[in-house]
Amino acid sequence: MKRICNQCQTEMINDCRVTVEADISGIKITQKGKGLFNNVSAKLKASVCPNCGNVALYVDDFNKFKQ
Ligand SMILES: [Zn+2]
Repeated sequence: MKRICNQCQTEMINDCRVTVEADISGIKITQKGKGLFNNVSAKLKASVCPNCGNVALYVDDFNKFKQ
C-alpha cells in the first residue's frame, strides 16, 4: 500500500523497522480480546518521507484489529 506524506505529498518509504535503542525486537501494538488467548498484536512499522523526513507509524496486520 502506498503511503503519501501528509506534509508534502511525497510517496513515503514503507517497511522501516521501529526499534527502541538496545532492543532489536521493536515495538508491538496489542489489542486485548475477549478471551485469554484472543489478544491480537502486530509489530509497529514506520514509513519515512524521503523528502521532508516525516514519519508515519502503521501496522501491517491491521485487519486483525477489531473495534
Ligand atoms: Zn514529506
